[in-house]
Amino acid sequence: MDCLFCKIANGEIPSTKVYEDEKVFCFKDIAPITPIHYLIIPKEHISGASAITAENSAVVAHIFEVAAKIAKDEGISDGFRIITNCGENAGQTVNHLHFHLLAGVKMGWGVEAVNPVE
Ligand code: AMP
Ligand code: ZN
Repeated sequence: MDCLFCKIANGEIPSTKVYEDEKVFCFKDIAPITPIHYLIIPKEHISGASAITAENSAVVAHIFEVAAKIAKDEGISDGFRIITNCGENAGQTVNHLHFHLLAGVKMGWGVEAVNPVE
């Protein structure tokens, strides 16, 4: 399958690795929007949040465990945000489930509407 994040998870395409275990891979976002901006992905290909099922959802809980561990290791437990964009209107650009871990700046709360939804 021609999937950018599958290739990053298996080392075919280089990335700056933050964490890896048998189920997940975490690496630095190539275009960070906050001082700390990591992506946490399952090694198994899941196209996005709308493809989470009873069969594959355990990895999502594991991703949140890993996020908490990374936050502790990075000293950001007092303030971080986890986001997953699902579908075109939400701005998903890579069709492999990924969770953005953002930290290092005081964040506001809002949704920037780029274009009105038809
Ligand atoms: P999204 O727009 O939510 O689908 O997020 C995709 C993210 O992947 C964006 O924040 C991109 O900056 C990031 N990205 C795209 N290509 C790479 C890459 N080769 N290495 C690291 N991050 C990437
Ligand atoms: Zn993939």
